[in-house]
Amino acid sequence: MKQTLPVKKNDYIDVTFEDLTHEGAGVAKVDGYPLFVPNALPGEKAQIKVLKTSKGYGFGKLIETYEESPYRVTAPCPIYKECGGCQLQHLSYEGQLLAKQKQVRDVLTRIGKLENVTVHPTLGMSDPWRYRNKSQVPIGEHEGGLIGGFYQQRSHQIIDMKSCLIQQEKNDEVIQKVKDICNKNGVRAYDEQRHKGDLRHIMARYGLVTGDVMIVLVTKSKDLPNRKKIIADITENIAGVKSIVQNVNNKKTNVIMGDETRVLWGQEVIYDYIGDVRFAISARSFYQVNPEQTKVLYDKALEYAALTGKEEVIDAYCGIGTISLFLAQKAKFVFGVEIVPEAIEDAKRNAELNNITNANFAVGKAEEIIPAWYEKGHKADVLVVDPPRKGCDEALLQTIIDMKPKKVVYVSCNPGTLARDLRVLEDGGYRTVEVQPVDMFPQTTHVEAVAKLTLVL
Ligand code: SAH
Repeated sequence: MKQTLPVKKNDYIDVTFEDLTHEGAGVAKVDGYPLFVPNALPGEKAQIKVLKTSKGYGFGKLIETYEESPYRVTAPCPIYKECGGCQLQHLSYEGQLLAKQKQVRDVLTRIGKLENVTVHPTLGMSDPWRYRNKSQVPIGEHEGGLIGGFYQQRSHQIIDMKSCLIQQEKNDEVIQKVKDICNKNGVRAYDEQRHKGDLRHIMARYGLVTGDVMIVLVTKSKDLPNRKKIIADITENIAGVKSIVQNVNNKKTNVIMGDETRVLWGQEVIYDYIGDVRFAISARSFYQVNPEQTKVLYDKALEYAALTGKEEVIDAYCGIGTISLFLAQKAKFVFGVEIVPEAIEDAKRNAELNNITNANFAVGKAEEIIPAWYEKGHKADVLVVDPPRKGCDEALLQTIIDMKPKKVVYVSCNPGTLARDLRVLEDGGYRTVEVQPVDMFPQTTHVEAVAKLTLVL
């Protein structure tokens, strides 16, 4: 039997928005049926027109707003709508922090069935702009000159950008100057359709504490016209450059970097700090894009781990060992596990760089390595997980339940899978004591949170 929906296409209806989607659209419900409406904010009352319906949800557009959110502001960025890199500039920062806290609390209740967990107010930035330390822009051509910026939403049309309000100003300067220098030296933009040309992307990385700059030129082939002159112009005109790297990507792909990387000038890596820990960052390394807030997040993880110096700690999904090295300063020993071999090489190098000798790293799947350790009798006092968006594998959760570390600290970039996994751990004998959302990506819908669990059974 065909189910009847509470609304149909072309209906005009009055709604109150309750929530935000990951794309930043407002969510209103009609008899439990969710409708997604761009540019609407939670708390707003409006008339909408239903544009499209499917079985589980529908889409609409704003017709008239009766009551505006007190947190609505005018987005300061002139290219906000075209770009799509930010989703929440029309919501004040205070409103963003509240929305993120509410989102975490709501999913913990709805998905995790955790009614009474304390979800603290989101820890935000005092200045929630200009925080990103990495910029990578696709390069195109317009009227014979190089342009670079971003792909217009839902297209592959490149729009030129002079400034990005969530980028470090230094990165804006670097990208702009490198674009001009390449232009002057006869470099042609890569043409996606014809698979011809030279320069595909420019990437800039900036060490906030050290001031180091790395420039990566992603080219279609090894050839780069006037390479020597380009290097000379860059080093003469841009302060702080420590490394110029060429990455060759000859594939017809949306993936930015190719497999071949060579240093054109200077060092292979630049350095930066999170807290007291120094990190070497190569062109291909993963490194947190907002180190200031990363410190806030890891300090919280450290506080929740409550280390005294006697504990053996496992850091699952450790990446380049950022959390592991942070914890090692306060633990007896830390074992990090990560699936990407290059990240583990970086982790080992970073341990050496900081003279940290009580940390070791293993390459492999957390859900395979940790159960194997457990079978051999290896137990941890504290287990930290920081999984990708899809959350922890069930086999890992089961091993945690069997291994019974006294504390589990769960760092999450997706509240939905966090809630799901907390439910499993709760059923296995853990209690979620508190959850702290941290705003790592102001102006966007990304939500990070760290949860503290203790063993009760
Ligand atoms: N803790 C790190 C990185 C967290 S991102 C930091 O704060 O910098 C999640 C990491 O999990 C990524 O590095 C990804 O490569 C890794 N990963 C993904 N699936 C995995 C798996 N099954 N086992 C181990 N690591 C995995």
